[in-house]
Amino acid sequence: DTIGANLDRAVAAWPDREVLVDVPSGRRWTYTEFAADVEKLSRALLAAGVAKGDRVGIWAVNCPEWVLVQYATARIGAIMVNINPAYRTHEVEYVLDQAGVSLLVASLSHKTSDYRAMVEQVRPRCPQLRETVYIGDPSWDALIARGTSAPYEELSCDDPINIQYTSGTTGFPKGATLSHHNILNNGYFVGELIGYSEQDRVCVPVPFYHCFGMVMGNLAATSHGACIVIPAPSFDPAATLRAVQEERCTSLYGVPTMFIAELNLPDFASYDLTSLRTGIMAGSPCPVEVMKRVVAEMHMEQVSICYGMTETSPVSLQTRMDDDLEHRTGTVGRVLPHIEVKIVDPATGVTRPRGTAGELCTRGYSVMLGYWNEPEKTAEAVDAGRWMHTGDLAVMRDDGYVEIVGRIKDMIIRGGENIYPREVEEFLYGHPEIRDVQVVGVPHERYGEEVLACVVPRDPADPLTLEELRAYCEGQLAHYKVPTRLQILDAFPMTVSGKVRKVELREKYGVR
Ligand code: ATP
Ligand code: MG
Repeated sequence: DTIGANLDRAVAAWPDREVLVDVPSGRRWTYTEFAADVEKLSRALLAAGVAKGDRVGIWAVNCPEWVLVQYATARIGAIMVNINPAYRTHEVEYVLDQAGVSLLVASLSHKTSDYRAMVEQVRPRCPQLRETVYIGDPSWDALIARGTSAPYEELSCDDPINIQYTSGTTGFPKGATLSHHNILNNGYFVGELIGYSEQDRVCVPVPFYHCFGMVMGNLAATSHGACIVIPAPSFDPAATLRAVQEERCTSLYGVPTMFIAELNLPDFASYDLTSLRTGIMAGSPCPVEVMKRVVAEMHMEQVSICYGMTETSPVSLQTRMDDDLEHRTGTVGRVLPHIEVKIVDPATGVTRPRGTAGELCTRGYSVMLGYWNEPEKTAEAVDAGRWMHTGDLAVMRDDGYVEIVGRIKDMIIRGGENIYPREVEEFLYGHPEIRDVQVVGVPHERYGEEVLACVVPRDPADPLTLEELRAYCEGQLAHYKVPTRLQILDAFPMTVSGKVRKVELREKYGVR
């Protein structure tokens, strides 16, 4: 199916079910109403001169119009370019230019971000950008009012319809080009594996600009008749729990840091979260303690862990609803239907036996068409056999469950010993004075690298010392894994998709 055809099917099956709720504005859509608004916007885009294959940028915080743009661009075969709402002029100019965006839909402003002012600044340098439409502005109404009766073009499931930039955790973001077939199937299977039906109401506090929101959220929901609930324009822990309570959500998404923020709200216990049954935690490793509380205190007994990357639409591994806590904390689950995985020696490409670490590679319908206009980078990531080389180190257990050990780039090599930051982080989480911790390798004259622990303390007024930290590790961790440096921080540098930018930690605190 194309995304448009899939939406038609949903409307026929669940015409009066709710599909979209925007909690901040109180606006709601049934499937029928939503499809009608998608139709209007599709016609308006055609009238604005957007043809199949043209790039339409969306630079906006979470709002219903984001979702309308997603489905309308897919309907007419335009390529939607998701732009990170945290970007500033330098980055947005890069993306507009790199992707050749001709029409941009943007938020007017949000918090300290004045999108209109930023667009005005970069516009003279982006000659291909013909028009910008702002959400909640007369320019949006003017666009919708245009309409046209021009026929839709013939579409194929394999047409590119989306350029998604990676999170930029390890460097500059790359634009993964994805088709209907790539992302619609992935959303569908992710939804299947957590048992979505028209009874489900999915709270999406993760940004739509990222595949977590737009594929695992929107496409998973609409391919199963479920409802998308937007708690706030950008992540707000209290607004999220309030939305779950008021809208009786059955599913809640987040990266681990978001769940940590929700669990740490002073009034956490006052929210009624009993409607929840499932949800997805993804994007980065989840500490065991956090998972236990999510299951016990947020009632998410069927919470699913997903592993994926933008380049693979995104999910390739996922835990199942009836997996036990050990598999749900110790692994990222099993491979999805119609996807293959293998774990290889990163140097030779030879497949490794189960139980040993190597680079995770994935293959199947979900692998991107390529990085937009970057054939060399595509060739580095996707080999001739169509295997995506993920850059992540993983171990497959005998039962087929996969453990992610860390990113190849993050592995610390100290005096020839390999150290996986995740293992040290898990151990340090057990320290009562540590709220959050990140472990990175930083340059060391003699050992090549040494271990730096960056700690957000529970009590910033009296943070722990390096001596205390080392004493805690003494006798419990091999000596070479014990951090030799400590940096106390208020918070970690994050990507908008909620991942810690370890590169930045290394750059900032790496040099003595
Ligand atoms: P960039 O490629 O620009 O450096 P990024 O890799 O963070 O950024 P994404 O595509 O958003 O961009 O994220 C994919 C990566 O996230 C994976 O390669 C993996 O390292 C990490 N990841 C995703 N899910 C999990 C998970 N469940 N557990 C551990 N790591 C995960
Ligand atoms: Mg990546």
